[in-house]
Amino acid sequence: MTREELRSLVRTVPDFPIAGIQFRDITTLIADSRGLASAVAHLADLASPDVAAVAGIEARGFIFGAALAMQLGTGFIPVRKAGKLPVETISEDYALEYGAATIEIDPTLVPQGGRVLLVDDLIATGGTALAAASLLRRAGGLVDTALFVIDLPELGGAAALRSAGVAADAVME
Ligand code: IMP
Repeated sequence: MTREELRSLVRTVPDFPIAGIQFRDITTLIADSRGLASAVAHLADLASPDVAAVAGIEARGFIFGAALAMQLGTGFIPVRKAGKLPVETISEDYALEYGAATIEIDPTLVPQGGRVLLVDDLIATGGTALAAASLLRRAGGLVDTALFVIDLPELGGAAALRSAGVAADAVME
């Protein structure tokens, strides 16, 4: 599918989770018989070479990240919301477009000095992806690229990632 066809599969839901937010809902894309595979194929086209592991951000980043890891022949590192991992973790607090949150990883999963490709469904302000990149770097990963299905460029996330030395790319805006 073309990027245009994929874009037509994303549903925009007004006033979710709070008034004034136009929520980009990818559940309609992944439920489409060709949508999920096509989105993952586009992500794989954007991936840098020599990826040692793919890291995906809970929860929608797990869907695309795990599928991309299989496509690239790597393992998958879950970046989880606080309190979910059963082992000792490292964590980062960050601000969201609406609210605040904490994410965690198991640092022993990160390949030392290896390129870790960060994946999520959508980048808005970039706060979530920056926190995830910081965690993966603290654990010894090389994080120089992040991929998203959707970028909302007017919120400045990709620019914020670039300032932190992470090149951000997306299948669609
Ligand atoms: P950021 O931290 O402001 O870049 O927000 C990105 C994070 O919030 C990602 O984990 C997204 O899954 C989620 N998010 C923010 N806005 C939307 C949206 O419109 N649709 C789906 N996810 C969103």
